[in-house]
Amino acid sequence: MTTFTLKILRDTVLQQKLLPLEELADREKQPVPAGTEFLIHSYLPVVDHLRFTLEHQAIAGCSIWYVNADDIQLLKDGNIVQTLEHPTQRGHGTSELCRRPPIIWEASPNFSSRNGTPIRRIILHCTATNSLTTVLNWFRHPESQVSTHYVVARDGKIYQMVRDSEKAWHAYGENADSIGIEHVADVQEHLSPPQERSTIALIRWLMAEYRIPAYAITGHRFSPSHPGDITCPHHLFGDETEEALRRWITRNLT
Ligand SMILES: [Zn+2]
Repeated sequence: MTTFTLKILRDTVLQQKLLPLEELADREKQPVPAGTEFLIHSYLPVVDHLRFTLEHQAIAGCSIWYVNADDIQLLKDGNIVQTLEHPTQRGHGTSELCRRPPIIWEASPNFSSRNGTPIRRIILHCTATNSLTTVLNWFRHPESQVSTHYVVARDGKIYQMVRDSEKAWHAYGENADSIGIEHVADVQEHLSPPQERSTIALIRWLMAEYRIPAYAITGHRFSPSHPGDITCPHHLFGDETEEALRRWITRNLT
């Protein structure tokens, strides 16, 4: 397993969640002085922060933290890693021929600006109802205050409700740099075969278009701001575990 050295360049604060510091409990934010070094074994750029996992170490009982990417340097074998760029060993690229699947536009009023944040991630959801009409109506309703970029129906049709360039409101705390994809299904249902074919085509196209690596695709409940407080995407990808989702991603998208 690769080990990286995370160097703290200036006094900063590690955070357990990517929320404003004033919303975090004391144990969820740990000041660290300039000059500190940590060994880490994995990392993921999230907005302007780096999410990292400590090697052989925990701070306040937690080994996963966020740090402002401007305050650190990441080294691998003595060489600086450009942390906010995607790794180059990904399987897809914009030069690859990947066609956008057919998409039906169904505008939602519930969106806001990404304020220049690049798209880096895809978050997968389950609607917890198999009524497409209910889902579209809910996301089109101004008072629901929720939306998604895409809805993939049981019959495989794909609806788009918010432009990729705008921020859809699908995962609290995670929306600025992500694309949200909802799948119409009851909580006990898997993806239907046509739905699975369509979402694979859609995700493959998004990965190529925005250079999103497979590791940056996740389920709602496994995204950083949602530690265990929700159950979406339910059984879409097998059982409810993150392992089942990762196996599905590996099988279909890498
Ligand atoms: Zn969800």
